[in-house]
Amino acid sequence: MQLSHFLKVYPWEEDPDLLLLFSTRQISKILIPKEVYLAAKNGGVSPLNTSLLSELGMLVPDPQAEKQAAISWLEALNATNSELTVTVVLNLDCNFACTYCYEGDMKGRLYMSAQTAARLVDFIKQRFGPGKNALNIDFYGGEPLLSIGTIKSISRELKAFAESRDASYSFSLVTNGALLKRKVTQELADLGLTNVKITLDGPPEVHDRYRPFKSGKGSFDVIIKNIKETWDLAKIGIGGNFDRHTYAEFPRLLGYLEKEGLTPDKIPAVKFDPITNSPEGDLSPTDYRDGCMSINEPWLVEAGTQLREEILKHGYNTLKPKPLFCLIENRDAFVVNYDGVIYKCPAFIGQNGYAVGDLKSGVNDYSQTYQLDIWKTEECRECVYLPLCYGGCRYMTFLRNGQIDQLDCKKDYFDATLETYIKQDIQYRS
Ligand code: SF4
Ligand code: SF4
Repeated sequence: MQLSHFLKVYPWEEDPDLLLLFSTRQISKILIPKEVYLAAKNGGVSPLNTSLLSELGMLVPDPQAEKQAAISWLEALNATNSELTVTVVLNLDCNFACTYCYEGDMKGRLYMSAQTAARLVDFIKQRFGPGKNALNIDFYGGEPLLSIGTIKSISRELKAFAESRDASYSFSLVTNGALLKRKVTQELADLGLTNVKITLDGPPEVHDRYRPFKSGKGSFDVIIKNIKETWDLAKIGIGGNFDRHTYAEFPRLLGYLEKEGLTPDKIPAVKFDPITNSPEGDLSPTDYRDGCMSINEPWLVEAGTQLREEILKHGYNTLKPKPLFCLIENRDAFVVNYDGVIYKCPAFIGQNGYAVGDLKSGVNDYSQTYQLDIWKTEECRECVYLPLCYGGCRYMTFLRNGQIDQLDCKKDYFDATLETYIKQDIQYRS
């Protein structure tokens, strides 16, 4: 047995005789004495430790075969995927005027018509072939709750269809939260609503500056009231978008949520992400330029690790390091715009050349458009972070270069943060 190719080894400050081992492939971790690690490295480890480290994916019979399996993993997932996931952009209208909204100039009174919704249902039924047993829809906008009638009619049809196939139907909402009243949430829960993602961009005065109603009035208090009314009807995850000026304010949001009784037992997930700038000269209605263009920007290391620590310290759940790949790689995931044009990622909506088809004519081959094999380079094949990255986010490359011509390499970011993330999980969740 040999050490896994996907092994990170970190010092353990509290006891210099120990090492922290983390498998980026199996997402396993262990603290072991240095001499056990050295014995494992040199092939002289005891049978008991061999068995333990093998179970954790840290000792493997053949590291070359292990690398090949990591490369083939996406193919294997696609071949056995029993779920169909469709993001439905119901409209490009909104009751908010967020300062950084990337939908920018595309927005207006643009709604999915009844005819397009009927075509969407047909498209989904066709795509839900044998071997599929779970149908997941993400309703998206604009603001999806401005299209409540369309959500209900699509869900009624798809729920009945899934049940006729002994499959499950569920849907989620990515909403600004202002229209999420108890009555409507109850009706939607009866039709399959399971998850809601609501964005709070910091404590009240910061959020209200970044995410006001169109009238200019603050939206924070309305959203908090609605979360209090509905948290028991669907799983409400709180997201928050920060920039270099606001991230230090976010811990106050966590304190506020606690004070208002929105404690971790009521809010199953919290995650804060950096705002990205719009592509140069493109779509943005404002001059907003305080976001990021790459996850490797140095300020994001401090912001990301500090905010994650605060979330965990307050007892909320947040994402753990896990195998991750761009959803464009998922052959059973699509984004359908309000007008029936199909994309692979919501961030590309409206971008010339990135549509992959439409509801009338179906899906075209998009392997070139989205550079599906871009990560199959020597650099990625040899990279210890491959299972956590698979070439990164195509949209971030597009943002920087105006096309998908390079990897969105996150090596620097992982080098700077992964050890801290793992140690945070040991401190707060073990
Ligand atoms: S391009 Fe980026 S935002 Fe779009 S699906 Fe891939 S990882 Fe997500
Ligand atoms: S893009 Fe960079 S971090 Fe990601 S797998 Fe490739 S080399 Fe590793």
